[in-house]
Amino acid sequence: MKWSKYNFSWSQDETFFHYNSIYNTILITEKELQMPFETEIQAQLEENGFLLADEIQEESVAKQKIEEKLHSSDTLSCWIFVTNDCNLACPYCFEKDSLSNSRPEYMDKEMCERTVIWLTAKARELNVKKIHVTLTGGEPLMNVPAMEMIAALLRKTELIVTMNVITNGVLLDRTIAKQLYQHNISSYQITIDGPSKIHDARRQYKDGSGTFSTILNNILKIRQWNNQICFVIRINVDQQNYKEIIKLLTLLKKLQLEKFLAICMNDTITDGMPHPDVLSEIVKIISQAQADGFNIAFGELNNCWMMSEYWYMVNVNGDIYKCPSLVGRKQYCVGNVESKKLTSQYQEQMNLAPWESCMNCNLVGLCCGGCPYRCILNSTQSGHKKVCRKDYLEALLKIKYKELENKMGS
Ligand code: SF4
Ligand code: SF4
Repeated sequence: MKWSKYNFSWSQDETFFHYNSIYNTILITEKELQMPFETEIQAQLEENGFLLADEIQEESVAKQKIEEKLHSSDTLSCWIFVTNDCNLACPYCFEKDSLSNSRPEYMDKEMCERTVIWLTAKARELNVKKIHVTLTGGEPLMNVPAMEMIAALLRKTELIVTMNVITNGVLLDRTIAKQLYQHNISSYQITIDGPSKIHDARRQYKDGSGTFSTILNNILKIRQWNNQICFVIRINVDQQNYKEIIKLLTLLKKLQLEKFLAICMNDTITDGMPHPDVLSEIVKIISQAQADGFNIAFGELNNCWMMSEYWYMVNVNGDIYKCPSLVGRKQYCVGNVESKKLTSQYQEQMNLAPWESCMNCNLVGLCCGGCPYRCILNSTQSGHKKVCRKDYLEALLKIKYKELENKMGS
């Protein structure tokens, strides 16, 4: 038997953790694992992919498992961009250029219908019964009628539907939240980039005034009305704000919001490059947030779904894309809801595979070669360049499983 090359092992506070990225399995032990293993441990190690027969070609198994992960799902996921208009003018907005180059558009009834027809046909083609729709924009709450229409149309299909909304949170008052709740929409992702001074310098109305207090009041009022509404607070972290994030978390805890919210932290994508100083700060902040009792959404511990046929974005004009960061960039468009066929660009994006060098990385089953969008941003004349954030992923895994161990122990 041999130890899988896709294992990642570490110890912390006299506990030993073993993670296998291909099978996404974790084994937590009080003693260090040493060969020869006790029979029971050996069986567990084999069953969970940590140990395998000497003759097995691991790389081919890994490639096959990654393929299976991307190409088998019981759920079709789609982001629908119901408008490209936005009520804010945030200086760092990644959609700003595409928005300022195009006139504001709002999905109308006809486009909502076409989008739902395309989605139901896609679900049938893939033989799935579940669909998860993320409503976004621009600012989706600038087009509530389209959100309601899409929800109503999907309800008439045979599909099991779940929905969430990515919003800047400014228009999400209790009235709107109640209205959308009637359509089973009860999950929101809102960005807050720091305490008020920092957030207001980054997330502004068009007249330059800040949005912090409006967003926080909206969340507090919604919680008073219905604590079943889920909020994920996304925090975009970079050199400008990382020192201040703890102040935001302290405030949220003071308001007793730590159990009501989940926190999701990302490094702001600017040039595609990983910034180790920012990433190590994020790790420290997440660790602190977890110790303070916040729920952490470990979104970064997921592979990119661009290469999956179960994952799409539909833009306001019906154009289809494979990555939210590429929406509106015509050269990456893979089709339109009015046409049954996807273009050759679709096949090109679907054919993206982990870099060959990644197949020797013990985290390839988790990371699958990283984010292709970051690689595009990081390209040179000789082509796209790999962007590897392995240290960061390792640190996140350690935090995630430390929490699991704490929960198991309590
Ligand atoms: S990008 Fe880095 S962490 Fe991801 S699979 Fe490749 S080598 Fe591993
Ligand atoms: S390419 Fe990057 S930004 Fe786009 S879907 Fe994949 S992980 Fe997300």
